[in-house]
Amino acid sequence: MPATPAWPPKSTPRLFVEQTLVEGASVNISGNSAHYLMGVMRLKEGAPVKLFDDISGEYLATVSNMGKRDLDLTVETRLRDREVTPDLWICQALIKKDRFDWVAEKSCELGVSRFLPVLTARCVVDKVKDDRLRAHMIEAAEQCERTALPQIAPLTRLEAMLQDWPADRSLYFCDERGGEPFLQAIGYGPGAVLIGPEGGFNDSENATIRAHPCATPVSLGPRILRADTAAVAAISVWMAKNGVWADRRLQCSTDLACKAEGEA
Ligand code: SAH
Repeated sequence: MPATPAWPPKSTPRLFVEQTLVEGASVNISGNSAHYLMGVMRLKEGAPVKLFDDISGEYLATVSNMGKRDLDLTVETRLRDREVTPDLWICQALIKKDRFDWVAEKSCELGVSRFLPVLTARCVVDKVKDDRLRAHMIEAAEQCERTALPQIAPLTRLEAMLQDWPADRSLYFCDERGGEPFLQAIGYGPGAVLIGPEGGFNDSENATIRAHPCATPVSLGPRILRADTAAVAAISVWMAKNGVWADRRLQCSTDLACKAEGEA
């Protein structure tokens, strides 16, 4: 007897919505998302759509009414809770826009809980557009099936960030000049990785970071990595070490799908 196909189908489109979702609610979708659902996915009334709100979890909704440029969805059932995000922050010095956006997107896919843009002496960029970063993270979360978005902190100068650093959070200072092998240095509990700009940290910044009681200088190997490469490498090693990737359940798009695959 063939297994009953998982519902909703894997091809079901998935969208982030700014409104807090509850069963029975009606959600109006307009703009690019409406174009995607009606123009690209060519959905018809009754078609399933997965929605998540970064607050209450992920829901199955169905298309209830279609207009010319917008459509209404009715929220049917809750599929799963908002994920418990791994407690890792990334503190990324500003780098060129497209690579900075790439780090924001990858940080979301890899599961970080907070993204802190940092201003340092050698940054060639000195401002960041939060709404652009958030848009990249939303797209990444929709695609990778996260039910939570990383929090984006306001742009902060390095010195101020260190001054206000929470005493219970390990700050892994990724330093190409040398440090403990990162895999070895990672402890358990709240963590953060700090990545410099294209030109690295200057001597006084390097000394200030190293003097911080929560900071541990760590090495990501013998090669000088681009800042964006270092960011993804550091997050990946932390996630693997902290067992986040060992939890298969997070890889199922819904608990139902997990049960169907016998994962639960
Ligand atoms: N000043 C460097 C370039 C900095 S690379 C140079 O000599 O050209 C940008 C950032 O990536 C660094 O500030 C550091 O945070 C991180 N990084 C790059 N390679 C690294 C490594 N092997 N170990 C630890 N961090 C590294």
